[in-house]
Amino acid sequence: MKLTAYGQTDVGRMRSNNEDCFYLDEQRGLFIVADGMGGHAAGEIASKMAVDTVCEAIESKFNEQMAPEELQPLLAAAVTQANRSISQAAAENPTWHGMGTTLTVLLLHARQAFLTHVGDSRLYRWRNKTLTRLSDDHTLIDAQLRRGIISEREASQSDLRNILLQAVGITEELDICQKTLPTEPGDCFLLCSDGLTDMLSQESISEILTSSSLPQTGCRELMAAALAAGGRDNITAVLVTVDNK
Ligand code: CA
Repeated sequence: MKLTAYGQTDVGRMRSNNEDCFYLDEQRGLFIVADGMGGHAAGEIASKMAVDTVCEAIESKFNEQMAPEELQPLLAAAVTQANRSISQAAAENPTWHGMGTTLTVLLLHARQAFLTHVGDSRLYRWRNKTLTRLSDDHTLIDAQLRRGIISEREASQSDLRNILLQAVGITEELDICQKTLPTEPGDCFLLCSDGLTDMLSQESISEILTSSSLPQTGCRELMAAALAAGGRDNITAVLVTVDNK
């Protein structure tokens, strides 16, 4: 499976520091976005710790011969480890108290996409000019939306839409969401933080992906559009294409 990826992060127009963190490794097929939270720059510490922990787990335990059914337990264990490390670091350092992060991990291996996810950073798949969201947001608003308590319109306008139900480093027992899906040549995956999706509708993202060559130009144009729309938060996008061979 030949992969081509590009990632970019931007502090945005309103914030003084960037608490988002991303990672891409085309060789191993590992792609991560984490969006940290916490005062005194602790959000940056949390998102970096989460990314580093997953990378280390993959570097030390993953090999090409692994059976697909071994991969999700490996990724879940890495997220659980990140949860433990971040909460422990926060307990030992009062200025880091309450720090946490979202964590969205995509591993592409043996023609399959392994998604492991906590929080409201997102994974989308772009296939045949159709954008499909593969991750649920672990937010109060998304839970209410799924249960039909509120409408799409109310959800998009709610002041509460960024309230997370769980985050790595904060929630003692995580409910880690995992999905395994077959990939097809030509698929493109987008991992992003809420700084992108709060600024751009799914339709706007689709328009940009339709009109730009992927992944580098697409990524740059997504970032530029999110900044032009206000850039109220840190913005991160990672695009990865599964090549036609
Ligand atoms: Ca954010």
